[in-house]
Amino acid sequence: MKNFTYYRPTSVDQALALLDTRWGTAELLAGGTDLHDLQKEYVAQPSRVVSLGGVNGLGGIAANDREVRIGAGVKLAEIAAHAAIRKHFPGLASAAGDVGGPQIRNMGTLGGNLCQRNRCWYFRDEHTNCLLKGGQRCFALEGENRYHAAFAQGHRCVIVNPSTLAPVLIALDATVEVQGPRGRNNVELAKFFRAPTGPTERETILAPNEMVTSVTIPVRGLANASYEVRQKQSYDWPLVQAAVSFTRQDGKVNAVKIVLGHVAPTPQVAEARGIAGRAVTEDTAAAAGRAAAEGAKPLSQTGYKIRLIEVAVKRALLIAAGQKRYWEA
Ligand SMILES: Cc1cc2nc3c(=O)[nH]c(=O)nc-3n(C[C@H](O)[C@H](O)[C@H](O)COP(=O)(O)OP(=O)(O)OC[C@H]3O[C@@H](n4cnc5c(N)ncnc54)[C@H](O)[C@@H]3O)c2cc1C
Repeated sequence: MKNFTYYRPTSVDQALALLDTRWGTAELLAGGTDLHDLQKEYVAQPSRVVSLGGVNGLGGIAANDREVRIGAGVKLAEIAAHAAIRKHFPGLASAAGDVGGPQIRNMGTLGGNLCQRNRCWYFRDEHTNCLLKGGQRCFALEGENRYHAAFAQGHRCVIVNPSTLAPVLIALDATVEVQGPRGRNNVELAKFFRAPTGPTERETILAPNEMVTSVTIPVRGLANASYEVRQKQSYDWPLVQAAVSFTRQDGKVNAVKIVLGHVAPTPQVAEARGIAGRAVTEDTAAAAGRAAAEGAKPLSQTGYKIRLIEVAVKRALLIAAGQKRYWEA
C-alpha cells in the first residue's frame, strides 16, 4: 500500500475541503471494506485519506409517515435490522441483509455501498491498464467476462455496477443528497449512476470533491422486493438481481417498476410489460421476467444471465405480492 496522510475531520465542510478537484489524490474512507482493498491492490493510491468516521450528521435513520432518511454513514447491518425499513421497504432490508457477510455489513456503510468501485478483475489487477485506468481498451469485452454485463450494447467498458442496494432504492424512487463546494443537491438515485469510460469518471456522477450525505425514500405503501441469484450465499456479489415495486388495488398491480442489478454498467431499469393492471400470478410474473430480459446483448460468456433475469424478476414479483416461495420448499 502506498503511504498516505490520514485525516479525521468532524464536519462535512471540513471533509469536503480536504478533497481534490481531480480523482485519485484524495479518497473518502467510510467502513473501508472496499477502499482498503483498492489501496492494497495499488488500484487506489491516494496521498490523502479522509475518514468519515468522526463527521457529524452522517449517522442515523429518521422515519416518519412520509419518508425515511438514512445517513450515508449508517451501516448495512443497521439498515437490514431497522423496524421502519423492514415494514415499508422489505426489499431494501433483504438486499442490505444479503450483502457479503456479517463483517462487511457491520463495517460497510450506505454511502460506501453506493460509491464502491466495480469488481472487474481486469480493473482490480494492478498490472492491467484497462480503459478505466487510462489504457486503450476494455479487456473484458473480448476476454474473461462471465461476471460482466448482459446489456453490453453501446458500452466501451462492460463492468456491472456492484451495489445491490442501488436497484432497490431506484425501484423505491429514492433520492440521494450530495454535498460539494457548491452546496447541497438532491439527485434522483436513478440519475446518480453512470457508465464510466476512463480514469476521469467513476461509477457515479459525483465530482471528486463531492460526497453523499444521505438517502431519502418516500413512504408510499408500495409493495417491494429484491431477489438475487447468487453462486455463493455469502462473501460474494449476485450474478443477477431484480428489484421490483408496485401499487396494489383490488388484487391488481400498477405502476410496476423493475430494476435489474449486475447486468449492466449502471442499474438497469427494465421494461415492465405483461403485468400492469393484472394480478401477480406465476404466469404474469414469468411474462414480466421475459419482457425484462428483452433487449439484452450479452458478451461471449454472459448469455446465461438472460435466464437468470427472467427467474429473478419472476421471483421478486411473487415475493412482493406475498406469494409462497415455492422455490425454497
Ligand atoms: C466479500 C465481499 C462481498 C460483498 N458482497 C456485496 C454484495 O453482495 N452486494 C453489495 O452491494 N456489496 C457487496 N460488497 C461490497 C460492500 O458492500 C462494500 O464494500 C461496502 O458497502 C462499502 O462500504 P464502506 O463503507 O466500507 O466503503 P469504503 O470502502 O470506505 O468506500 C468505498 C468507496 O466509496 C467512497 N465513499 C464512501 N463513503 C462515501 C460517501 N459518503 N460519499 C462519497 N463517496 C464515499 C470511498 O471513497 C470509496 O471510493 C461485498 C464486499 C466484500 C468484500
